[in-house]
Amino acid sequence: MKNFPRTEKTRVRRLPKRAHYDVETVYSILDAGFICHVGYVVGGQPFVTPTAYWREGDHVYWHGSRASRMPAKAANHNVCLTVTHLDGLVVARSGFHHSINYRSVMIFGKPHQVEDEAHKLRAMENFVERIYPGRWKELRPVTRKELKATTVLYMPIKEASAKVRTGGPIDDEKDYRLPIWVGVIPFQVSNSTPLPDSRLLAGVMTPNHALNFCHLGIRPA
Ligand SMILES: Cc1cc2nc3c(=O)[nH]c(=O)nc-3n(C[C@H](O)[C@H](O)[C@H](O)COP(=O)(O)OP(=O)(O)OC[C@H]3O[C@@H](n4cnc5c(N)ncnc54)[C@H](O)[C@@H]3O)c2cc1C
Repeated sequence: MKNFPRTEKTRVRRLPKRAHYDVETVYSILDAGFICHVGYVVGGQPFVTPTAYWREGDHVYWHGSRASRMPAKAANHNVCLTVTHLDGLVVARSGFHHSINYRSVMIFGKPHQVEDEAHKLRAMENFVERIYPGRWKELRPVTRKELKATTVLYMPIKEASAKVRTGGPIDDEKDYRLPIWVGVIPFQVSNSTPLPDSRLLAGVMTPNHALNFCHLGIRPA
């Protein structure tokens, strides 16, 4: 199993038994989602921007409008990108021991802009296909203007950690006598019935990629 190195930045100090550094766990958490938070610093002020992402091999990609601040300010600077999945609420016998079951990843690195047009186009296709498999070929082609208006960033996944909590509450021994409900309330993201656009042309059927998001770990409600 390949592991990311434990660096000064990525070594989990708090509850290290929940830490994972293997590539498989980090990638599986990244691949189970498509929303991340990108943290970056501008003039000493930290900003954390939620945005969509996707993984291609050992790189993580995200994009933004050329008019947005985040892609411009994050490019060629140190960032911290996080991904979190909420798996459950852990209800304990004391407020102190309530917890959350989760899978999360933190990646440190320096993103760069995709300059090459063909690379940018391929990245945009991979982004759309990641969420809606089979959709790219149905869409009208991207224009040069649209491509110009879009900044795509990519960052090698070299310095990363994962942290995972599973299981029930861990209470103080004396509290196990308390007659109150305890347990785990599982959470999961689900998609619902698609709502067709008011200007959808008559006769156009709902495609499978608007109904099925199991590849993203999302189940129908
Ligand atoms: C959904 C969710 C809810 C949480 N709620 C709380 C809460 O209410 N209170 C609380 O104290 N903590 C909570 N945590 C845990 C929190 O993310 C931190 O792990 C914890 O606060 C310790 O922070 P630290 O900076 O002291 O960690 P340290 O162990 O000092 O961090 C050192 C390094 O470990 C790695 N690391 C730390 N945390 C994570 C992580 N979550 N995922 C991946 N890598 C990590 C990073 O590389 C980091 O730079 C929650 C996590 C999640 C995902």
